[in-house]
Amino acid sequence: MRKIFIFDTTLRDGEQSPGVNLNTREKLEIAYQLEKLGVDRIEAGFPAASPGDLSAVNAVARAIKKSTIIGLSRSRMQDIDAVREALQGAEDPCIHLFLATSPIHRKYKLKMEKDQVMETAREAIRYARKYFSKIEFSCEDAGRTEIDFLCQMTSMAIQEGASVVNIPDTVGYLYPYEYGNIFKTLKEQVPGIEKIQLSAHCHDDLGMATANSLAAIAGGADQIEGTINGIGERAGNTALEEVALALETRSDFFNAKTTLELSEIARTSRLVSRLTGMVVPGNKAIVGANAFAHESGIHQDGMLKEKTTYEIMSPETIGLKESKLVLGKHSGRHAFREKLIDLGYTLEEERLNEAFAKFKALADKKKDVTDEDLLAIMEEKLVDTPESFRLEAIYVAYGNESTPTAKVRIATLNGETLEVGAEGNGSVDAIYNAIDRASNEEVTLSDYSIKSVSHGKDAQGEVHVVLTQDDVSVQGRGISTDILEASARAYVDALNRLIEKKKSDRGIKA
Ligand SMILES: [Zn+2]
Repeated sequence: MRKIFIFDTTLRDGEQSPGVNLNTREKLEIAYQLEKLGVDRIEAGFPAASPGDLSAVNAVARAIKKSTIIGLSRSRMQDIDAVREALQGAEDPCIHLFLATSPIHRKYKLKMEKDQVMETAREAIRYARKYFSKIEFSCEDAGRTEIDFLCQMTSMAIQEGASVVNIPDTVGYLYPYEYGNIFKTLKEQVPGIEKIQLSAHCHDDLGMATANSLAAIAGGADQIEGTINGIGERAGNTALEEVALALETRSDFFNAKTTLELSEIARTSRLVSRLTGMVVPGNKAIVGANAFAHESGIHQDGMLKEKTTYEIMSPETIGLKESKLVLGKHSGRHAFREKLIDLGYTLEEERLNEAFAKFKALADKKKDVTDEDLLAIMEEKLVDTPESFRLEAIYVAYGNESTPTAKVRIATLNGETLEVGAEGNGSVDAIYNAIDRASNEEVTLSDYSIKSVSHGKDAQGEVHVVLTQDDVSVQGRGISTDILEASARAYVDALNRLIEKKKSDRGIKA
């Protein structure tokens, strides 16, 4: 069976989703999980974008050993130098160069003729060759590029020593038959094509990213690029879990497989969703909450008689299992540790103690502590943004016949304690006005969402916010058994990230 390489760009294309802004710590956690999932290649970011991006890519490059680490670069020297710097210390570094090749991009964006595009790309690959033994070259907007020019560009990239040539459908324009045919044509017509791998990179603007990626495989593609949960620019990228499960379930048709550890999919999906704040819709293929739920009586009857009547794959395959052990107030450290191991966490003593203390505090407020609760605790712990502000206490007074008021007590990095009160048109507004006064930061709340972590009246609430200041957006999240406290925590978390981001973008180590 043919192996399909998986190129994950959750940390680069995925992070370009509107409102998503991961800090280095979060990028690292996602990278560790991607490594566990067994992705062959991780695109960690675009180092030339800012000093903050560069150092985050470097942190991933130094930490990850099993997957190839990739940095994105335009076809220019400064970008290539930034990738060199960012990938220092990487076990297996690779640079990803790109240049647009379609008539629209040549004419309006690059203002270049075909031969100029060809020469610019050639020079970039030559320069990169001095420092990198692995080079991927992307013909941006390949989907709308003349096929003969695409063949010429691919041929040039092979001659210059690229190891992978990517044929992205950058704007999600093609349909499967057309896209698959591009790969077939390249395989048939470009001399030396067997020396390199061909890669597919699709966007979901017309809802065809997965179908197009599979068509590319049928046409001869060796590698699929995409993100976990399909997050990314606009309508997003190819959802890697969909491609992996399609190949697994229909290996009879494709005769090709990934080497992903499929049982890590559910966990990876959950982690990415929580850290990016991008909620997975219930009806999303493979990882949606309802993907394995059977509602109608006829289906349930069939399922009881024989699962395969209505189930083409099993939830266990992606690592979903019925949880039997529920923890509560009286659960001890041993049961807690066992449970965490079961969920995939192995903790050093110190982190275990911290997590156990949080669990105990939660168990005091909530009878049953579910797997979702524990994951929320663990994933909240993942992130140690330096706390410029720490929420110590909040008080809220609300009645539908009076003006809501809130008071917050906030500790600052330099040891000050601020107590500030404010009014608002609702409790959350009052809390946020009070925090604004305490922080003295001028921010706009551009998004707010709340969901329950598990079920029941005593469930924890998880709040996600996006704050904007000038042209910088940051996200924040907070979890608590009280939604007002969760709201306050999310807001303070976002403020701390804003301050950290401003520092790192200025090139100051946080
Ligand atoms: Zn893309």
